[in-house]
Amino acid sequence: MTTSASCDELFAALRDELGGGVKLDAPFGAQTTYRVGGTCKYYVAVGSREDAMLVGTAVAACGLPVLVLGNGSNLLVSDAGFDGVVIHCVGELSTARFSSDAVTAGGGMSLPSLARRSVSEGRVGLEFLVGIPGTVGGAVRQNAGGHGKETAEVLRSALILDLLTGRLEHHELSWFDFAYRSSRLVSTELVIDATFHAPSGDGRAGSAILDSIVRWRRANQPGGANAGSVFVNPAGDSAGALIDRAGLKGLRRGGAVVSMKHANFIQAESGATAADVLAVMRAVSRGVEERFGVTLQPETQLVGFTDDERSPW
Ligand SMILES: Cc1cc2nc3c(=O)[nH]c(=O)nc-3n(C[C@H](O)[C@H](O)[C@H](O)COP(=O)(O)OP(=O)(O)OC[C@H]3O[C@@H](n4cnc5c(N)ncnc54)[C@H](O)[C@@H]3O)c2cc1C
Repeated sequence: MTTSASCDELFAALRDELGGGVKLDAPFGAQTTYRVGGTCKYYVAVGSREDAMLVGTAVAACGLPVLVLGNGSNLLVSDAGFDGVVIHCVGELSTARFSSDAVTAGGGMSLPSLARRSVSEGRVGLEFLVGIPGTVGGAVRQNAGGHGKETAEVLRSALILDLLTGRLEHHELSWFDFAYRSSRLVSTELVIDATFHAPSGDGRAGSAILDSIVRWRRANQPGGANAGSVFVNPAGDSAGALIDRAGLKGLRRGGAVVSMKHANFIQAESGATAADVLAVMRAVSRGVEERFGVTLQPETQLVGFTDDERSPW
């Protein structure tokens, strides 16, 4: 493993190659939808697969932990930050190309944009993505879903870069081992792009679906700083319903509070810290365990926390 000083040199060399998209001690938590949490050691914005491969070489040489950042809509970053490399897909890696019955979208493309672009191209099947404020890469990693559909049902294949070996491979759907909100992808594998089924269909019906999903989200989910559902639904049950029935709506620690609108959302109010959000998560989990004997598991990924801080997860 390389020393911290030589990692600095490696990333300085990368900055010469890639320009201003390489930053040291850069804001990280602020880039998530919770908008809390500290910095990361190195931040690199990559605009092409070639850029991503260069970063992979530096990551492999440094031996630091790595995290590919999408829209940060499923992350809680610790106040102490993340002592590793954050890679953000931008530019060419956030665009889409349509073919006869499919669309290939870059790992950094926003899901609502992909849903809207698909409908405007007269394609059907991806409308459900309009309500999920993440990116294509995050959706593949997490098997994101909603409104009765999940990523695994619409994905055809994806191009994955193994950052440690530099290997770039197309994988078909079955390779991903998709399950509820999970896939086999690990933190050193970067989704360069993903190809989704997107046949032609009734564009007007597609627009109506988009509108109804957006209306439903506005009516049923809070705005502001949050990361969507905090806990995955236990088998055969709803995490939000359990939290609600345990009387935990409105539970507060510092600037973080369980939403009154949706019990499985935690709002980070102005001045909140990541420690506040984590304290609410713990209190909610304890409350549900005591009342129903059900152990809730986080859907939100905890980044940069020590094992003690993460306990019981
Ligand atoms: C208001 C709100 C509503 C939400 N509703 C839903 C919902 O209905 N359904 C649902 O499933 N989720 C929902 N979420 C959670 C979140 O949007 C999804 O989990 C989404 O898939 C996360 O995508 P992201 O790009 O923000 O990923 P991030 O939060 O940035 O990262 C999540 C994981 O994906 C990985 N990742 C991101 N990009 C890549 C890439 N290019 N290559 C490899 N790995 C990558 C990260 O390393 C990390 O492990 C909601 C969140 C909010 C704030």
